[in-house]
Order: sequence, then structure tokens, then C-alpha cells
Amino acid sequence: MKQFCFSAKITAIFFIMAISLFPDVQTASAQQWQAGVASTVITPREPIWLGGYGGRETPALGKIHDLHLKALALSDPRGNRAVIVTADLIGFSREYTEAVTAEITKKFDLPREAMLINTSHTHCGPETRSERDAVLGMPDEYKIKNARYVEELKGVCVETVGKALKDMKPALVTFAGNEMSAPFAVCRRVPTPHGIEYHSAPSSYYTGGPRDDTVPVLKVAAPDGKLRAALFGYACHPITLSIDYYCGDYPGFAQQYVEEAYPGAVAMFMQGCGAQLVPNARFQIEYAQGHGRTLADAVKKALDGPQTEISGPLRCAYREPLLQFKPLPDRGVLEEAAKSKNNIPAAPLLDPAKAALILKMMDKGEKIPTTVPCPVQAISFGKELLLVGLSGETVVDYSVSLKTEFQGRFVWVAGYCNSVFGYLPSWKIVREGGYEGGRAFSYTLYPGPFAEDVESRTLTAVREAVKAVDDKGARTP
Ligand SMILES: [Zn+2]
Repeated sequence: MKQFCFSAKITAIFFIMAISLFPDVQTASAQQWQAGVASTVITPREPIWLGGYGGRETPALGKIHDLHLKALALSDPRGNRAVIVTADLIGFSREYTEAVTAEITKKFDLPREAMLINTSHTHCGPETRSERDAVLGMPDEYKIKNARYVEELKGVCVETVGKALKDMKPALVTFAGNEMSAPFAVCRRVPTPHGIEYHSAPSSYYTGGPRDDTVPVLKVAAPDGKLRAALFGYACHPITLSIDYYCGDYPGFAQQYVEEAYPGAVAMFMQGCGAQLVPNARFQIEYAQGHGRTLADAVKKALDGPQTEISGPLRCAYREPLLQFKPLPDRGVLEEAAKSKNNIPAAPLLDPAKAALILKMMDKGEKIPTTVPCPVQAISFGKELLLVGLSGETVVDYSVSLKTEFQGRFVWVAGYCNSVFGYLPSWKIVREGGYEGGRAFSYTLYPGPFAEDVESRTLTAVREAVKAVDDKGARTP
């Protein structure tokens, strides 16, 4: 007995010594998180049509730097898996994301709710939402070339996820969320005595209004502490640049600078709810680089600072509420609008081009959509961190409201996930009107604007998704 106690004591001493000599090794094996990461260059091999802005006159003239599609695969100690995909692209339609995720489910047995696909929304990437051909003025030659690129990209996405899953090995998964010390996002919805005005020139942006200045960072390190992946976010429309070159805008530069600072690591940018938030300096490469540097510095500060350990379990839920459009005006009203010369009318459906498009659809006997699915996703990493992924060009109001509602843990709200159908405004913004309130629907095939219950329909679905991950045990201490 004595001998047993003695040997147990010796074992304990060795164990304590091992922990103090190799703290990271011990933490990794105790947590047993696994992670895998993969990055693929997706810069088109030929000049194709760029997304984001209407009125382009040329395809891409070259590249500033490469565009990437990246995947981070995570598995908690119980084997629950999730994959997060980020891409330097304008956005995907729901149909596209569904096709890609269905293939991933078939190949890798990963359920739909465990996959989140986020796009940075760079306006210097190829147009990947083929349903917008009709409203973007894309020449026929590029309708074919862009469609070919988008089709090939499906395989690239599935392969990249496969590589990340194959790369799974023990990892230290931690988290840090810092307020950015020099936020560069400002509001382009400017309050005036006559209502909200939409401004595109930095000199007249509004420095008040809601923002989300947090830079959340999920850190994935090898057991020896070496950084393998950094997934980070910020909420700001990536429209520093308006050029005809492939470029990731400020998120592309931020990823580049983080990867340069940690050789061998993959940096992934996840766009936040920044629809009405825009960079405070625009239209020069140096500004995109400067914003990228500011964001990369905030990421580095988080990576090298105190970390919150992620306990798990990893839980995922996905919901798809239907958002309702306001009823169409009478045919006579649309016919009048189609003849009008006013390109910035009070109501989005009275835009001449949009009214003409709807009339054309009616004449062909096509069904005018009355609703659009709005995917929402909740990924819980345990009691410390909740990631909510919203679709559409999400306004920051959602981030502000969800962070308040689910306070008690860190809430990371990403926009531009899974389906970028158009703007996702809040109730307040629908009432105020303006570009994000409905006028931007002129550039989609949807009638728009949304009915005033858009926010309550979205938030109800988010609450259901969060309840689902919490009921599965994520909040159990
Ligand atoms: Zn946009």
C-alpha cells in the first residue's frame, strides 16, 4: 500500500513537471479539439465580369492580388463537427449554396446545419450571382464565361472543404474579441431634416448611428502553440475600391498582412453586419491597404493577447424563415413608372428599369416572387461563444440587437452568410426607406421592398436556432 502511494506520488510529480514544462501539449490533449484548414486560390484564369457595381464597361483588367476560398474544419472532444468557409467574393445565391452543401453532405457526411459559407462581399471579385445577369448589363460573352467560372467553383469549394477535413489534427482552439482602437467603418445613411439620405462620398458620411467595432478572432494553434488559422470578423461594406481589377479590398489586405505576420498560418475573414457601414476613406489602393493594416493589427493584438478557452460542445442549427415582400402596385402604376425618367424614385418598384423588368416578367407569365428564404444559422462553441450567421446584406442593427439579447456569452454576428439575396434591413430601416430600406432591390430580380415584419421574422428564426443549440446542451456548464 505504502509502495503504491509512493509510486502514485512520483507519477503525480512527473505529471506536474510535464504540465509545467509543456503546458500547451497538456492543454491540447486534455481538450482534444481537432482542426483542419485549407486555402485555395480562386482568381479567375481569364478576364471575367466583376460584381458589386452596376454600370461597368469592361471585364477585369488584371489583379491587385489573388482571391481565395478557405475552409476551417473543427471537431470538439465529442466529435461534433462544423466547417466554416470564407471567400473573397461578392456573394452566393441560396440555390448555389444548397447545391454545394448537398454535395459536401454526400461526400463527407456533414449535415447542412454544420456548414456556414460566408463571403467578404468584395466588389473587386467576379460576379457570382448569375441570377443578376439581367440587371447588371453583363454582355452575353461574359454571361457564359462567368457561369463557367461559377460552375467550376462548386467543385473547388467541395475540394477545399475536403482538404480541411483531411487536415484534422489536435488543436488548441481559443477566442478573443477586442474593440478596434481605430474603427474605419462609418454610416452612409445620413439623417437630414427631410429624412434619411444615402451618400456615396466619404466627405458626407455620418459618424453617428449604430456600428459594430468589435474584431472577434477565433484562434487555432498547434499543440506547440504555433498558429495554424485565425478566423476574424469586422462589419464594414468592402467598397474602398471601385476598380476593374481582382482584389479582396480591405479584407483581402488584412488576410494578407496576418498571414505575413504568422508564416504558415491561414487567415480567414468573415464579413459582419456592415451593410450600411462603409470605409471612411475610399477610392485609392492605399486606403484599402490602410484599412487592411488597421484590421490586421487588431487581429494580431487579439492573437497575441489573453485568450478565452473554448469548452464546447460544438452545436449547430439552421433555419430558413420566409421574408415577405410588400404587395405589388397595380399594373397601371408600374406602366407609368416604366416610362418615367426618374432613376431615383421614392419607392423601389417605381424605378423605371425595375418596373419594366417586373412588367416583362408579368407578360411572360412568370411568377413574381412574394417571399424570399432568409437562411439563419447558430453555431455554439460552448458557454463562451455563440456565432450567429445571417444571410443577405445584413444591416448592423441585427448585430446590435442580438448581442443585447444573448448577452452573457460573446456573441459574434456575421452577415453575408449562405445567401446574398439583397439587403436585409431592420424594421426601422424599412420604415425609413432609402437604399438599404428597399431601393437596392432595383438591382435584383426580387420585387422588394420587404414588409415591415422582416426583422421580427428573422429574429424569431434566430431565437429558434439559438434555442436548438442551447437545448442540445451547449449552455450546460
Ligand atoms: Zn453590397
